[in-house]
Amino acid sequence: KWGPEVLADFKMNKGIAFSIPERQTLGIHGLLPPTVNSQDMQVKRIIENYHRQCDDLHKYSFLMDIQDTNEKLFYRVINDHLEEMMPIVYTPTVGLACQRYGHIYRRPRGLFITIHDRGHIAEILRNWPEPNIKAIVVTDGERILGLGDLGAHGMGIPVGKLALYTACAGVDPSHTLPVCLDVGTNNEKLLNDPMYIGLRIKRFRSQEYDDLVDEFMKAVVKKYGYNCLIQFEDFGNQNAFRFLQKYKDDYCTFNDDIQGTASVALAGIYASLRMTGKKLSENKFVFLGAGEAAIGIASLIVMAMMEDGLTEEEAVKTIWLVDRTGLVVMDRPASELNKQRSRFAQAHNPIANLADTIKTVKPTAIIGVSAAKGAFTDEIIKYMSTINDHPIIFALSNPTSMAECTAEQAYAYSDSECMFASGSPFQPVTLPSGKTLYPAQGNNSYIFPGVALGIVASGMKRVDDHAFLIAAKELADQVTDAHLSEGRLYPPLSTIKSVSLRIATKVVEYAYRKGLAAKQPEPEDKEEFVRSHVYQTEYYDFVPKFYEWPSDQ
Ligand code: NAP
Ligand code: MN
Repeated sequence: KWGPEVLADFKMNKGIAFSIPERQTLGIHGLLPPTVNSQDMQVKRIIENYHRQCDDLHKYSFLMDIQDTNEKLFYRVINDHLEEMMPIVYTPTVGLACQRYGHIYRRPRGLFITIHDRGHIAEILRNWPEPNIKAIVVTDGERILGLGDLGAHGMGIPVGKLALYTACAGVDPSHTLPVCLDVGTNNEKLLNDPMYIGLRIKRFRSQEYDDLVDEFMKAVVKKYGYNCLIQFEDFGNQNAFRFLQKYKDDYCTFNDDIQGTASVALAGIYASLRMTGKKLSENKFVFLGAGEAAIGIASLIVMAMMEDGLTEEEAVKTIWLVDRTGLVVMDRPASELNKQRSRFAQAHNPIANLADTIKTVKPTAIIGVSAAKGAFTDEIIKYMSTINDHPIIFALSNPTSMAECTAEQAYAYSDSECMFASGSPFQPVTLPSGKTLYPAQGNNSYIFPGVALGIVASGMKRVDDHAFLIAAKELADQVTDAHLSEGRLYPPLSTIKSVSLRIATKVVEYAYRKGLAAKQPEPEDKEEFVRSHVYQTEYYDFVPKFYEWPSDQ
Protein backbone atom coordinates (compact mmCIF):
# COMPACT_ATOMS: atom_id res chain seq x y z
CA LYS A 1 0.00 0.00 0.00
CA TRP A 2 1.12 3.53 -0.74
CA GLY A 3 0.04 7.11 -0.14
CA PRO A 4 -3.42 7.87 1.28
CA GLU A 5 -4.24 4.14 1.18
CA VAL A 6 -1.84 3.69 4.08
CA LEU A 7 -3.73 6.17 6.24
CA ALA A 8 -7.04 4.61 5.26
CA ASP A 9 -5.91 1.14 6.30
CA PHE A 10 -6.89 0.76 9.97
CA LYS A 11 -4.37 -2.05 10.44
CA MET A 12 -1.42 -0.07 9.06
CA ASN A 13 -2.37 3.41 10.15
CA LYS A 14 -0.32 4.98 12.94
CA GLY A 15 -1.62 8.51 12.38
CA ILE A 16 0.63 11.16 13.73
CA ALA A 17 3.01 8.48 15.05
CA PHE A 18 4.44 7.75 11.57
CA SER A 19 8.11 8.81 11.64
CA ILE A 20 9.43 11.25 9.04
CA PRO A 21 11.36 8.48 7.17
CA GLU A 22 8.18 6.37 7.17
CA ARG A 23 6.12 9.27 5.86
CA GLN A 24 8.62 9.80 3.04
CA THR A 25 8.92 6.09 2.26
CA LEU A 26 5.17 5.49 2.25
CA GLY A 27 4.26 8.59 0.26
CA ILE A 28 2.29 10.27 3.04
CA HIS A 29 4.67 13.10 3.85
CA GLY A 30 2.74 16.34 4.11
CA LEU A 31 -0.53 14.51 4.69
CA LEU A 32 0.14 14.67 8.44
CA PRO A 33 1.07 17.63 10.61
CA PRO A 34 4.85 17.95 11.03
CA THR A 35 4.90 16.77 14.64
CA VAL A 36 5.69 13.12 15.29
CA ASN A 37 4.02 11.77 18.43
CA SER A 38 4.72 8.60 20.37
CA GLN A 39 1.87 6.14 20.86
CA ASP A 40 1.84 7.19 24.53
CA MET A 41 1.16 10.75 23.48
CA GLN A 42 -1.63 9.62 21.16
CA VAL A 43 -3.20 7.73 24.04
CA LYS A 44 -3.13 10.88 26.18
CA ARG A 45 -4.87 12.86 23.44
CA ILE A 46 -7.53 10.20 23.05
CA ILE A 47 -8.23 10.06 26.76
CA GLU A 48 -8.61 13.83 26.84
CA ASN A 49 -11.14 13.64 24.01
CA TYR A 50 -12.84 10.59 25.49
CA HIS A 51 -13.59 12.47 28.68
CA ARG A 52 -15.05 15.32 26.70
CA GLN A 53 -17.75 13.03 25.23
CA CYS A 54 -21.05 14.00 26.82
CA ASP A 55 -22.47 10.53 27.49
CA ASP A 56 -21.69 6.82 27.33
CA LEU A 57 -23.15 6.34 23.87
CA HIS A 58 -20.90 9.09 22.51
CA LYS A 59 -17.98 7.44 24.26
CA TYR A 60 -18.92 4.18 22.53
CA SER A 61 -19.06 5.80 19.08
CA PHE A 62 -15.83 7.65 19.77
CA LEU A 63 -14.02 4.40 20.59
CA MET A 64 -15.53 2.61 17.57
CA ASP A 65 -14.19 5.37 15.33
CA ILE A 66 -10.71 4.71 16.65
CA GLN A 67 -11.15 0.98 16.07
CA ASP A 68 -12.11 1.80 12.48
CA THR A 69 -9.13 4.06 11.83
CA ASN A 70 -6.21 2.86 13.96
CA GLU A 71 -6.61 -0.64 15.36
CA LYS A 72 -3.40 -0.82 17.37
CA LEU A 73 -4.13 2.46 19.07
CA PHE A 74 -7.68 1.33 19.88
CA TYR A 75 -6.44 -1.81 21.62
CA ARG A 76 -3.66 0.06 23.39
CA VAL A 77 -6.23 2.55 24.75
CA ILE A 78 -8.66 -0.08 26.01
CA ASN A 79 -5.83 -2.25 27.32
CA ASP A 80 -4.64 0.62 29.45
CA HIS A 81 -8.15 1.62 30.62
CA LEU A 82 -9.96 -1.69 30.68
CA GLU A 83 -11.88 -1.19 33.89
CA GLU A 84 -13.15 2.18 32.73
CA MET A 85 -13.91 1.19 29.14
CA MET A 86 -15.25 -2.36 29.49
CA PRO A 87 -18.72 -1.00 30.43
CA ILE A 88 -18.60 1.10 27.26
CA VAL A 89 -17.42 -1.47 24.70
CA TYR A 90 -19.50 -4.13 26.43
CA THR A 91 -22.47 -4.30 28.81
CA PRO A 92 -24.22 -2.05 29.68
CA THR A 93 -23.44 0.57 26.98
CA VAL A 94 -23.20 -1.92 24.12
CA GLY A 95 -26.84 -2.75 24.90
CA LEU A 96 -27.85 0.85 24.42
CA ALA A 97 -25.72 0.99 21.27
CA CYS A 98 -27.54 -2.07 19.86
CA GLN A 99 -30.92 -0.52 20.60
CA ARG A 100 -29.87 2.56 18.61
CA TYR A 101 -27.56 0.77 16.17
CA GLY A 102 -29.28 2.10 13.07
CA HIS A 103 -29.24 5.63 14.42
CA ILE A 104 -25.57 5.72 15.39
CA TYR A 105 -24.48 3.68 12.35
CA ARG A 106 -21.36 5.08 10.65
CA ARG A 107 -19.64 2.29 8.79
CA PRO A 108 -20.01 -1.46 8.57
CA ARG A 109 -18.13 -3.86 10.80
CA GLY A 110 -18.50 -7.64 10.64
CA LEU A 111 -20.28 -9.85 8.16
CA PHE A 112 -24.04 -9.74 7.59
CA ILE A 113 -25.49 -12.98 6.27
CA THR A 114 -29.23 -12.95 5.65
CA ILE A 115 -31.90 -15.56 5.14
CA HIS A 116 -31.94 -14.55 1.46
CA ASP A 117 -28.29 -15.60 1.13
CA ARG A 118 -28.92 -19.33 1.44
CA GLY A 119 -26.78 -21.19 -1.06
CA HIS A 120 -24.28 -18.32 -1.21
CA ILE A 121 -22.62 -18.21 2.20
CA ALA A 122 -19.28 -19.46 0.86
CA GLU A 123 -19.25 -16.54 -1.59
CA ILE A 124 -19.98 -14.08 1.19
CA LEU A 125 -17.14 -15.48 3.30
CA ARG A 126 -14.86 -14.94 0.32
CA ASN A 127 -15.65 -11.21 0.49
CA TRP A 128 -14.18 -10.90 3.96
CA PRO A 129 -10.73 -9.32 3.55
CA GLU A 130 -8.84 -11.31 6.20
CA PRO A 131 -7.84 -14.80 5.03
CA ASN A 132 -6.87 -16.45 8.30
CA ILE A 133 -9.88 -16.49 10.61
CA LYS A 134 -9.56 -18.55 13.79
CA ALA A 135 -12.47 -17.30 15.90
CA ILE A 136 -15.99 -16.22 14.96
CA VAL A 137 -18.68 -14.81 17.22
CA VAL A 138 -22.11 -15.22 15.65
CA THR A 139 -25.53 -13.97 16.71
CA ASP A 140 -28.98 -13.96 15.18
CA GLY A 141 -29.94 -11.03 17.41
CA GLU A 142 -32.92 -12.70 19.04
CA ARG A 143 -31.96 -12.28 22.71
CA ILE A 144 -29.51 -9.41 23.01
CA LEU A 145 -28.34 -9.19 26.66
CA GLY A 146 -31.60 -8.94 28.62
CA LEU A 147 -33.07 -6.62 25.97
CA GLY A 148 -34.78 -9.13 23.72
CA ASP A 149 -35.01 -9.27 19.92
CA LEU A 150 -32.91 -6.54 18.29
CA GLY A 151 -32.58 -8.22 14.88
CA ALA A 152 -29.61 -7.03 12.82
CA HIS A 153 -28.85 -4.40 15.45
CA GLY A 154 -27.48 -7.32 17.44
CA MET A 155 -24.26 -6.99 15.39
CA GLY A 156 -22.93 -4.75 18.17
CA ILE A 157 -22.60 -7.84 20.36
CA PRO A 158 -20.21 -9.99 18.24
CA VAL A 159 -18.22 -6.84 17.51
CA GLY A 160 -17.95 -5.98 21.22
CA LYS A 161 -17.28 -9.53 22.29
CA LEU A 162 -14.45 -9.98 19.83
CA ALA A 163 -12.95 -6.65 20.89
CA LEU A 164 -12.78 -8.24 24.34
CA TYR A 165 -11.17 -11.40 22.92
CA THR A 166 -8.31 -9.09 21.99
CA ALA A 167 -8.40 -6.58 24.85
CA CYS A 168 -8.70 -9.18 27.63
CA ALA A 169 -6.69 -12.08 26.25
CA GLY A 170 -4.72 -10.82 23.28
CA VAL A 171 -6.37 -12.87 20.51
CA ASP A 172 -5.11 -11.33 17.26
CA PRO A 173 -7.97 -9.22 15.82
CA SER A 174 -6.97 -10.23 12.28
CA HIS A 175 -7.98 -13.76 13.25
CA THR A 176 -11.48 -12.81 14.40
CA LEU A 177 -14.73 -12.32 12.54
CA PRO A 178 -18.05 -10.93 13.89
CA VAL A 179 -21.10 -12.37 12.14
CA CYS A 180 -24.77 -11.42 12.29
CA LEU A 181 -27.27 -13.84 10.80
CA ASP A 182 -30.17 -11.62 9.78
CA VAL A 183 -33.25 -13.81 9.72
CA GLY A 184 -35.64 -10.95 10.42
CA THR A 185 -36.95 -9.55 13.69
CA ASN A 186 -40.20 -9.65 15.59
CA ASN A 187 -39.44 -6.30 17.19
CA GLU A 188 -42.22 -4.07 15.83
CA LYS A 189 -40.49 -0.93 16.97
CA LEU A 190 -37.48 -1.77 14.83
CA LEU A 191 -39.58 -2.92 11.88
CA ASN A 192 -41.25 0.49 11.90
CA ASP A 193 -38.06 2.46 12.44
CA PRO A 194 -36.86 4.01 9.16
CA MET A 195 -33.30 3.87 10.49
CA TYR A 196 -33.39 0.08 11.06
CA ILE A 197 -30.47 -1.51 9.18
CA GLY A 198 -31.73 -5.09 8.89
CA LEU A 199 -34.25 -6.98 6.78
CA ARG A 200 -37.79 -5.73 7.32
CA ILE A 201 -39.36 -9.14 7.74
CA LYS A 202 -40.64 -11.24 10.60
CA ARG A 203 -38.16 -13.69 12.07
CA PHE A 204 -37.81 -16.95 10.11
CA ARG A 205 -38.32 -19.96 12.34
CA SER A 206 -38.76 -22.66 9.77
CA GLN A 207 -36.49 -25.24 8.22
CA GLU A 208 -34.92 -22.46 6.12
CA TYR A 209 -33.50 -20.95 9.30
CA ASP A 210 -31.91 -24.24 10.35
CA ASP A 211 -30.58 -24.71 6.84
CA LEU A 212 -28.98 -21.27 6.93
CA VAL A 213 -27.19 -22.02 10.20
CA ASP A 214 -26.12 -25.41 8.91
CA GLU A 215 -24.76 -23.97 5.68
CA PHE A 216 -22.93 -21.32 7.69
CA MET A 217 -21.24 -23.92 9.92
CA LYS A 218 -20.15 -25.99 6.95
CA ALA A 219 -18.94 -23.00 4.94
CA VAL A 220 -16.83 -21.81 7.88
CA VAL A 221 -15.13 -25.16 8.30
CA LYS A 222 -14.53 -25.46 4.59
CA LYS A 223 -12.91 -22.05 4.38
CA TYR A 224 -11.12 -21.75 7.73
CA GLY A 225 -10.63 -25.34 8.86
CA TYR A 226 -12.30 -27.64 11.36
CA ASN A 227 -10.65 -25.92 14.32
CA CYS A 228 -12.01 -22.46 13.61
CA LEU A 229 -13.86 -21.53 16.81
CA ILE A 230 -17.52 -20.60 16.29
CA GLN A 231 -18.93 -18.97 19.41
CA PHE A 232 -22.72 -18.63 19.52
CA GLU A 233 -23.96 -15.51 21.25
CA ASP A 234 -27.35 -14.12 22.21
CA PHE A 235 -29.52 -16.61 20.33
CA GLY A 236 -33.03 -17.19 21.65
CA ASN A 237 -33.33 -19.84 24.31
CA GLN A 238 -34.60 -22.79 22.24
CA ASN A 239 -32.17 -22.23 19.39
CA ALA A 240 -29.21 -21.74 21.70
CA PHE A 241 -29.67 -25.16 23.31
CA ARG A 242 -30.61 -26.85 20.07
CA PHE A 243 -27.55 -25.65 18.17
CA LEU A 244 -25.18 -26.36 21.04
CA GLN A 245 -26.48 -29.91 21.20
CA LYS A 246 -26.39 -30.30 17.45
CA TYR A 247 -22.88 -28.95 16.83
CA LYS A 248 -20.81 -29.46 19.96
CA ASP A 249 -19.44 -32.87 19.03
CA ASP A 250 -18.53 -32.11 15.44
CA TYR A 251 -17.45 -28.48 15.49
CA CYS A 252 -15.20 -26.31 17.62
CA THR A 253 -18.05 -24.37 19.19
CA PHE A 254 -19.37 -23.05 22.46
CA ASN A 255 -22.21 -20.86 23.63
CA ASP A 256 -21.08 -18.14 25.95
CA ASP A 257 -24.55 -17.41 27.33
CA ILE A 258 -24.77 -21.00 28.51
CA GLN A 259 -21.20 -22.20 29.12
CA GLY A 260 -19.27 -18.97 29.69
CA THR A 261 -21.91 -17.72 32.12
CA ALA A 262 -21.82 -21.05 33.91
CA SER A 263 -18.08 -20.82 34.36
CA VAL A 264 -17.98 -17.28 35.69
CA ALA A 265 -20.89 -17.88 38.05
CA LEU A 266 -19.36 -21.09 39.40
CA ALA A 267 -16.06 -19.26 39.96
CA GLY A 268 -17.96 -16.69 42.05
CA ILE A 269 -19.62 -19.49 43.99
CA TYR A 270 -16.27 -21.17 44.66
CA ALA A 271 -14.87 -17.87 45.93
CA SER A 272 -17.97 -17.36 48.15
CA LEU A 273 -17.53 -20.79 49.69
CA ARG A 274 -14.27 -19.64 51.23
CA MET A 275 -16.35 -17.18 53.28
CA THR A 276 -19.28 -19.46 54.04
CA GLY A 277 -16.98 -22.38 54.90
CA LYS A 278 -19.29 -24.82 53.11
CA LYS A 279 -18.42 -27.42 50.49
CA LEU A 280 -20.10 -26.94 47.11
CA SER A 281 -22.26 -30.02 47.70
CA GLU A 282 -23.56 -28.60 51.00
CA ASN A 283 -25.36 -25.79 49.20
CA LYS A 284 -28.89 -25.42 47.90
CA PHE A 285 -29.42 -23.16 44.92
CA VAL A 286 -32.61 -21.38 43.95
CA PHE A 287 -32.47 -19.86 40.48
CA LEU A 288 -34.81 -17.15 39.28
CA GLY A 289 -34.92 -17.91 35.57
CA ALA A 290 -34.69 -21.29 33.91
CA GLY A 291 -33.15 -20.22 30.62
CA GLU A 292 -29.74 -20.39 29.01
CA ALA A 293 -27.85 -18.87 31.93
CA ALA A 294 -29.69 -20.82 34.64
CA ILE A 295 -29.43 -24.19 32.91
CA GLY A 296 -25.80 -23.52 32.03
CA ILE A 297 -24.85 -22.64 35.60
CA ALA A 298 -26.90 -25.47 37.08
CA SER A 299 -25.35 -28.02 34.73
CA LEU A 300 -21.82 -26.94 35.57
CA ILE A 301 -22.57 -27.02 39.30
CA VAL A 302 -23.82 -30.58 38.86
CA MET A 303 -20.69 -31.52 36.93
CA ALA A 304 -18.48 -30.01 39.65
CA MET A 305 -20.41 -31.81 42.42
CA MET A 306 -20.11 -35.11 40.56
CA GLU A 307 -16.35 -34.58 40.36
CA ASP A 308 -16.48 -34.21 44.14
CA GLY A 309 -18.14 -37.61 44.41
CA LEU A 310 -21.89 -36.96 44.36
CA THR A 311 -24.14 -38.96 42.09
CA GLU A 312 -25.97 -37.05 39.38
CA GLU A 313 -29.24 -37.63 41.20
CA GLU A 314 -27.88 -36.17 44.44
CA ALA A 315 -26.35 -33.19 42.66
CA VAL A 316 -29.46 -32.36 40.66
CA LYS A 317 -31.53 -32.30 43.87
CA THR A 318 -29.59 -29.24 45.09
CA ILE A 319 -30.92 -27.16 42.18
CA TRP A 320 -34.32 -25.45 42.30
CA LEU A 321 -35.42 -23.48 39.24
CA VAL A 322 -38.15 -20.84 39.28
CA ASP A 323 -39.50 -19.43 36.01
CA ARG A 324 -42.52 -17.33 35.16
CA THR A 325 -44.85 -20.17 36.14
CA GLY A 326 -43.15 -20.74 39.49
CA LEU A 327 -41.05 -23.64 40.76
CA VAL A 328 -40.11 -26.05 38.00
CA VAL A 329 -41.65 -29.35 39.13
CA MET A 330 -41.96 -32.77 37.59
CA ASP A 331 -45.70 -32.85 37.11
CA ARG A 332 -45.84 -29.81 34.87
CA PRO A 333 -47.37 -30.41 31.47
CA ALA A 334 -44.72 -31.74 29.09
CA SER A 335 -45.28 -28.74 26.81
CA GLU A 336 -43.85 -26.49 29.52
CA LEU A 337 -40.95 -28.74 30.40
CA ASN A 338 -38.30 -28.72 27.73
CA LYS A 339 -35.49 -31.26 27.91
CA GLN A 340 -33.11 -28.94 29.70
CA ARG A 341 -35.59 -27.92 32.35
CA SER A 342 -36.90 -31.40 32.98
CA ARG A 343 -33.46 -32.54 34.15
CA PHE A 344 -33.81 -30.16 37.10
CA ALA A 345 -37.54 -30.54 37.73
CA GLN A 346 -38.10 -31.33 41.40
CA ALA A 347 -40.49 -33.96 42.70
CA HIS A 348 -42.42 -31.36 44.64
CA ASN A 349 -45.81 -29.70 44.73
CA PRO A 350 -46.04 -26.63 42.54
CA ILE A 351 -45.02 -23.37 44.23
CA ALA A 352 -46.27 -20.23 42.54
CA ASN A 353 -43.48 -17.76 43.12
CA LEU A 354 -39.92 -17.07 44.17
CA ALA A 355 -40.60 -15.87 47.71
CA ASP A 356 -42.55 -19.00 48.62
CA THR A 357 -39.98 -21.24 46.97
CA ILE A 358 -37.23 -19.67 49.04
CA LYS A 359 -39.26 -20.13 52.24
CA THR A 360 -39.80 -23.78 51.40
CA VAL A 361 -36.33 -24.69 50.13
CA LYS A 362 -34.27 -22.51 52.49
CA PRO A 363 -31.42 -22.16 50.02
CA THR A 364 -27.86 -21.04 50.73
CA ALA A 365 -27.74 -19.23 47.39
CA ILE A 366 -30.16 -17.37 45.13
CA ILE A 367 -29.12 -16.70 41.57
CA GLY A 368 -31.02 -14.23 39.42
CA VAL A 369 -30.83 -14.85 35.69
CA SER A 370 -34.32 -13.81 34.65
CA ALA A 371 -34.01 -10.20 33.47
CA ALA A 372 -36.80 -9.60 36.04
CA LYS A 373 -35.82 -6.25 37.48
CA GLY A 374 -36.11 -5.94 41.24
CA ALA A 375 -37.30 -9.53 41.77
CA PHE A 376 -34.99 -9.93 44.79
CA THR A 377 -37.08 -7.83 47.14
CA ASP A 378 -35.99 -6.43 50.48
CA GLU A 379 -37.97 -9.20 52.18
CA ILE A 380 -36.26 -11.92 50.18
CA ILE A 381 -32.79 -10.57 50.92
CA LYS A 382 -33.62 -10.15 54.61
CA TYR A 383 -35.01 -13.68 54.78
CA MET A 384 -31.90 -15.11 53.10
CA SER A 385 -29.77 -13.51 55.78
CA THR A 386 -31.88 -14.85 58.61
CA ILE A 387 -31.31 -18.42 57.39
CA ASN A 388 -27.63 -18.00 56.37
CA ASP A 389 -24.64 -16.27 57.96
CA HIS A 390 -23.37 -15.38 54.50
CA PRO A 391 -26.12 -15.83 51.91
CA ILE A 392 -24.97 -16.01 48.32
CA ILE A 393 -26.97 -13.47 46.32
CA PHE A 394 -26.14 -13.17 42.64
CA ALA A 395 -28.27 -10.73 40.61
CA LEU A 396 -26.77 -11.51 37.23
CA SER A 397 -29.29 -10.07 34.81
CA ASN A 398 -28.01 -7.55 32.28
CA PRO A 399 -27.95 -4.72 31.63
CA THR A 400 -27.82 -2.90 34.98
CA SER A 401 -31.45 -1.80 34.68
CA MET A 402 -32.58 -5.44 34.64
CA ALA A 403 -30.72 -6.62 37.76
CA GLU A 404 -32.82 -8.56 40.32
CA CYS A 405 -31.49 -6.21 43.01
CA THR A 406 -28.80 -3.57 43.31
CA ALA A 407 -25.56 -4.03 45.21
CA GLU A 408 -26.68 -1.41 47.71
CA GLN A 409 -29.94 -3.28 48.40
CA ALA A 410 -28.14 -6.61 48.79
CA TYR A 411 -25.68 -5.19 51.31
CA ALA A 412 -28.26 -3.06 53.12
CA TYR A 413 -30.80 -5.83 53.75
CA SER A 414 -28.26 -8.51 54.64
CA ASP A 415 -26.30 -6.40 57.12
CA SER A 416 -23.47 -6.50 54.58
CA GLU A 417 -23.03 -10.21 55.18
CA CYS A 418 -24.09 -11.46 51.76
CA MET A 419 -21.77 -12.62 49.00
CA PHE A 420 -23.03 -10.48 46.15
CA ALA A 421 -22.32 -10.55 42.44
CA SER A 422 -24.04 -8.81 39.55
CA GLY A 423 -23.90 -9.17 35.78
CA SER A 424 -23.33 -5.50 34.93
CA PRO A 425 -21.09 -3.30 37.07
CA PHE A 426 -22.26 -1.50 40.21
CA GLN A 427 -20.39 1.35 41.86
CA PRO A 428 -18.52 0.63 45.12
CA VAL A 429 -20.75 0.90 48.18
CA THR A 430 -19.60 2.68 51.32
CA LEU A 431 -21.20 1.22 54.44
CA PRO A 432 -22.34 3.30 57.42
CA SER A 433 -19.21 1.98 59.18
CA GLY A 434 -17.10 3.79 56.56
CA LYS A 435 -15.90 0.53 55.00
CA THR A 436 -16.11 0.34 51.21
CA LEU A 437 -17.25 -2.80 49.42
CA TYR A 438 -16.54 -3.48 45.76
CA PRO A 439 -19.51 -5.40 44.35
CA ALA A 440 -18.35 -8.39 42.36
CA GLN A 441 -19.19 -8.36 38.67
CA GLY A 442 -19.75 -11.87 37.33
CA ASN A 443 -18.54 -10.67 34.00
CA ASN A 444 -18.21 -13.38 31.36
CA SER A 445 -15.15 -11.51 30.17
CA TYR A 446 -13.20 -13.20 32.93
CA ILE A 447 -13.75 -16.48 31.11
CA PHE A 448 -14.46 -16.41 27.37
CA PRO A 449 -11.39 -14.46 26.18
CA GLY A 450 -8.97 -16.75 28.04
CA VAL A 451 -10.79 -19.89 26.96
CA ALA A 452 -10.84 -18.63 23.37
CA LEU A 453 -7.13 -17.84 23.42
CA GLY A 454 -6.42 -21.36 24.69
CA ILE A 455 -8.59 -22.83 21.93
CA VAL A 456 -7.07 -20.73 19.17
CA ALA A 457 -3.47 -21.21 20.35
CA SER A 458 -3.69 -25.00 20.58
CA GLY A 459 -5.95 -25.39 17.56
CA MET A 460 -8.51 -27.26 19.65
CA LYS A 461 -10.88 -29.40 17.62
CA ARG A 462 -13.73 -29.36 20.13
CA VAL A 463 -14.56 -27.62 23.41
CA ASP A 464 -16.46 -29.34 26.19
CA ASP A 465 -17.93 -28.31 29.55
CA HIS A 466 -14.87 -29.59 31.31
CA ALA A 467 -12.80 -26.76 29.84
CA PHE A 468 -15.24 -24.33 31.49
CA LEU A 469 -14.96 -26.12 34.83
CA ILE A 470 -11.17 -25.82 34.65
CA ALA A 471 -11.52 -22.13 33.80
CA ALA A 472 -13.88 -21.56 36.76
CA LYS A 473 -11.45 -23.16 39.18
CA GLU A 474 -8.52 -21.19 37.83
CA LEU A 475 -10.47 -17.93 38.08
CA ALA A 476 -11.53 -18.64 41.66
CA ASP A 477 -7.91 -19.42 42.54
CA GLN A 478 -6.98 -15.88 41.52
CA VAL A 479 -9.15 -14.39 44.29
CA THR A 480 -7.14 -13.48 47.39
CA ASP A 481 -8.40 -13.17 50.96
CA ALA A 482 -7.87 -9.42 50.68
CA HIS A 483 -10.22 -9.37 47.67
CA LEU A 484 -12.83 -11.32 49.60
CA SER A 485 -12.72 -8.94 52.55
CA GLU A 486 -13.54 -6.10 50.15
CA GLY A 487 -16.59 -7.89 48.80
CA ARG A 488 -14.86 -8.98 45.61
CA LEU A 489 -15.48 -12.52 44.38
CA TYR A 490 -13.32 -12.03 41.31
CA PRO A 491 -9.90 -10.49 40.85
CA PRO A 492 -10.03 -6.80 39.88
CA LEU A 493 -10.86 -6.26 36.21
CA SER A 494 -7.57 -4.43 35.86
CA THR A 495 -5.80 -7.81 36.22
CA ILE A 496 -7.94 -9.54 33.60
CA LYS A 497 -5.11 -9.92 31.11
CA SER A 498 -2.96 -12.03 33.41
CA VAL A 499 -6.07 -13.95 34.53
CA SER A 500 -6.92 -14.71 30.90
CA LEU A 501 -3.40 -15.94 30.20
CA ARG A 502 -3.60 -18.32 33.15
CA ILE A 503 -6.97 -19.62 31.98
CA ALA A 504 -5.65 -20.00 28.43
CA THR A 505 -2.66 -21.94 29.74
CA LYS A 506 -4.95 -24.30 31.67
CA VAL A 507 -7.12 -24.81 28.60
CA VAL A 508 -4.06 -25.54 26.47
CA GLU A 509 -2.82 -28.08 29.04
CA TYR A 510 -6.25 -29.70 29.01
CA ALA A 511 -6.36 -29.73 25.19
CA TYR A 512 -3.09 -31.66 24.96
CA ARG A 513 -3.98 -33.96 27.84
CA LYS A 514 -7.23 -34.93 26.12
CA GLY A 515 -5.77 -35.19 22.63
CA LEU A 516 -7.92 -32.28 21.41
CA ALA A 517 -5.06 -30.01 20.31
CA ALA A 518 -4.28 -29.95 16.61
CA LYS A 519 -1.01 -28.01 16.90
CA GLN A 520 1.90 -30.41 16.95
CA PRO A 521 4.48 -30.91 18.33
CA GLU A 522 3.17 -30.30 21.81
CA PRO A 523 4.90 -27.25 23.30
CA GLU A 524 6.80 -28.02 26.47
CA ASP A 525 6.27 -24.69 28.21
CA LYS A 526 2.54 -24.04 27.77
CA GLU A 527 2.58 -20.65 29.41
CA GLU A 528 5.33 -19.43 27.12
CA PHE A 529 3.44 -20.96 24.19
CA VAL A 530 0.30 -19.01 25.11
CA ARG A 531 2.28 -15.78 25.52
CA SER A 532 3.77 -16.19 22.05
CA HIS A 533 0.23 -15.95 20.62
CA VAL A 534 -0.63 -12.66 22.29
CA TYR A 535 -1.34 -9.69 20.03
CA GLN A 536 0.99 -6.72 20.49
CA THR A 537 -0.22 -3.14 20.38
CA GLU A 538 3.19 -1.65 19.55
CA TYR A 539 3.25 -0.22 16.05
CA TYR A 540 5.08 -1.93 13.23
CA ASP A 541 8.21 -0.25 11.91
CA PHE A 542 7.65 0.45 8.22
CA VAL A 543 11.19 1.54 7.45
CA PRO A 544 13.47 -1.48 7.30
CA LYS A 545 16.67 -1.49 9.28
CA PHE A 546 19.30 -1.13 6.51
CA TYR A 547 22.59 -2.94 6.87
CA GLU A 548 26.01 -2.41 5.32
CA TRP A 549 26.98 -4.17 2.08
CA PRO A 550 30.54 -4.02 0.62
CA SER A 551 30.69 -1.13 -1.91
CA ASP A 552 32.84 -3.04 -4.47
CA GLN A 553 30.37 -5.92 -4.96
P1 NAP B 1 -33.36 -16.81 28.63
O1 NAP B 1 -32.79 -18.07 28.11
O2 NAP B 1 -34.31 -16.05 27.82
O3 NAP B 1 -34.05 -17.15 30.03
C1 NAP B 1 -34.75 -16.23 30.82
C2 NAP B 1 -35.45 -17.00 31.92
O4 NAP B 1 -35.97 -16.07 32.87
C3 NAP B 1 -36.62 -17.85 31.44
O5 NAP B 1 -36.58 -19.08 32.09
C4 NAP B 1 -37.82 -17.05 31.89
O6 NAP B 1 -38.92 -17.85 32.27
C5 NAP B 1 -37.31 -16.42 33.14
N1 NAP B 1 -38.06 -15.22 33.54
C6 NAP B 1 -38.26 -14.10 32.82
N2 NAP B 1 -39.01 -13.23 33.53
C7 NAP B 1 -39.28 -13.82 34.69
C8 NAP B 1 -40.02 -13.46 35.84
N3 NAP B 1 -40.62 -12.28 35.90
N4 NAP B 1 -40.09 -14.32 36.86
C9 NAP B 1 -39.47 -15.52 36.79
N5 NAP B 1 -38.76 -15.92 35.74
C10 NAP B 1 -38.68 -15.10 34.70
O7 NAP B 1 -32.19 -15.78 29.03
P2 NAP B 1 -30.75 -16.09 29.64
O8 NAP B 1 -29.76 -16.24 28.57
O9 NAP B 1 -30.85 -17.16 30.64
O10 NAP B 1 -30.42 -14.69 30.33
C11 NAP B 1 -31.19 -14.22 31.40
C12 NAP B 1 -30.53 -12.99 32.01
O11 NAP B 1 -29.27 -13.33 32.54
C13 NAP B 1 -30.28 -11.85 31.00
O12 NAP B 1 -30.58 -10.62 31.62
C14 NAP B 1 -28.82 -11.93 30.75
O13 NAP B 1 -28.26 -10.68 30.43
C15 NAP B 1 -28.31 -12.41 32.08
N6 NAP B 1 -26.99 -13.04 31.97
C16 NAP B 1 -26.00 -12.62 32.79
C17 NAP B 1 -24.75 -13.14 32.67
C18 NAP B 1 -23.67 -12.69 33.59
O14 NAP B 1 -23.92 -12.02 34.52
N7 NAP B 1 -22.43 -13.03 33.38
C19 NAP B 1 -24.50 -14.08 31.71
C20 NAP B 1 -25.55 -14.52 30.88
C21 NAP B 1 -26.79 -13.98 31.03
P3 NAP B 1 -39.93 -18.52 31.20
O15 NAP B 1 -39.16 -19.64 30.61
O16 NAP B 1 -41.06 -18.97 32.05
O17 NAP B 1 -40.27 -17.47 30.21
MN1 MN C 1 -24.66 -12.90 25.68
